[in-house]
Order: sequence, then structure tokens, then C-alpha cells
Amino acid sequence: MRPPPIRKSLGQHFLTDPRILARIADAVALTPGETVVEIGPGRGSLTDALLARAARVVGVEIDRKLAELLREKYANEPRITIVEADVLDVNLGELAGGPYALAGNVPYYITTPILFQALRRPRASRSVFLVQREVGARMAAPPGADDYGALSVNLQAHAQVELLFRIPSGAFNPPPRVESAVVRVTPRAEPIVAADAEESFRIFVQAAFALRRKQMRRVVRTVADRSVAEAEAALAASGIDPDARPETLSAADFHALGAALSLWR
Ligand code: SAM
Repeated sequence: MRPPPIRKSLGQHFLTDPRILARIADAVALTPGETVVEIGPGRGSLTDALLARAARVVGVEIDRKLAELLREKYANEPRITIVEADVLDVNLGELAGGPYALAGNVPYYITTPILFQALRRPRASRSVFLVQREVGARMAAPPGADDYGALSVNLQAHAQVELLFRIPSGAFNPPPRVESAVVRVTPRAEPIVAADAEESFRIFVQAAFALRRKQMRRVVRTVADRSVAEAEAALAASGIDPDARPETLSAADFHALGAALSLWR
């Protein structure tokens, strides 16, 4: 079967360079017994590199024709399962059926929803994403950096994020207009936020960053609907300067503040 026409609306930019594909697959640091879930296998180029390093690959591909192409390509490969679905509609852990790693040259039009989807439980033991370079920088940015934001805090509350290496746009067919980078996300052994507080934490952090550049005294009053005295007491209890701004607080600071405001324990 010939590859179907490229659908740019699905973020289709394919990689073919075997050295780049090997570098991405190596970054997943798979052990031979492991299962890896791949987001958007496309024509199967990264899939081949992952299969060479894992026991099983589960590929989630939305494009019906590409899913057909992949089923045909891997007809004699029992270690691969192709699931034709929107990655945002599936539970990745259930598809894996046990512990798993996650990898994907992800479609850029839904990168952030995919990153939040990857935080749903059961989570991957490691995830490697090929993303737009700016998104990679936001994911890994430390507090105070220009590109530090709600995405950075939410990921870093659960995981260690490493910006590994860049990939030039010329390596893709067709080349995207932006540069790309490979990022590895490794869950913390002890997450900063407990499972039952994750949703409240995400909402609180997003609301705080909507007031970027405002002082925390004002942010707390607005976001948590507290008086000046209550806001200042909560900030003091969590060791945060009331003059500080949301973009300088770490995930641990946000967690301590929410606990002082009794938003979670
Ligand atoms: N992995 C291939 C490679 O590296 O050459 C293809 C990467 S391409 C950037 C993104 C892939 O994700 C495409 O195959 C596209 O059809 C697929 N895709 C787009 N949206 C998707 C979605 N919502 N769920 C699952 N796959 C999706």
C-alpha cells in the first residue's frame, strides 16, 4: 500500500533520518521487557526504532488510512498493536495493559492537551515527546524564566522535565515552520501534589498565571476570594513574599500556598 496523502491538518510531519529516530528512541531508555505506547505512529518510522528496543509497541493513530498502512506494514509483527483513535479519547495506561513508557513525535496542534492527557493515571514510567522547541522550553523552564508558566508548574509538580536536543525542521517531510526539540518527562518518585488534589492544583495555578505580573497578595485575594489579611496570612504561612509574582513561584510554593488556603491538604 502506498502512503496516503499528507494531512497537514493532522500535524503530519514525518521523520525518516535513522540517526535522529535512533536518538529519540534511545532517549526513552527502554529495557527489553517494556511496553511503549506511541502517539501518532504515522508511517511507522519511529515505531520501527521503538520496536527494536521494546517488547511491545501500542500505536495510537487517528488517521484511518495511516492506521490501515501500519496494520499492513506490521501484519507479521505480533508485538505491535495499532489502535485507530484520537489520543485524547483513550486511556493510555489501559491500552498498555500494565507498566509502560510513552513516546511520540506529537502533532503540534494539540501538544498541550496531549501533555495533560499524559498526566492522567496510570502514568507512563517515562515519556519522550518531540515538540515545538518553544513548547519544550516552556515545559522545562525554571521559576523566573521568561517561558515559565502554568504548563511548566503543572508538569514539574509531577515530573522532572529535561530538554534533551533540538531537531531542525529540514529533518521532517514536509518541514514544519518551527524548530522542534525532544523532551523527556520522568515522574517524581514523590509527586508534589497528591492524586486527589491534582485537579484543584491545576485550576489554581492556571488562574494565578492569568494574573501574571500581579503581586501574590492580589493574586490570592482574587483567585481564592480572600480578604487582604487572609491572603497575607496564607502567604506568610507558606513562606512566600506577598510582593512576589506568580511567575517566580515553584510548584512546591504553589502547593504550600494552596495548603495554607485549605484548597487541599
Ligand atoms: N511518528 C511519525 C513520524 O515521526 O514520522 C508521525 C509524526 S506526525 C508529527 C504526527 C502523527 O500524529 C501523524 O501520524 C498524525 O496523523 C497523528 N495524529 C494527529 N492527531 C492525532 C490524534 N488526535 N490522535 C492520534 N494521532 C494523531
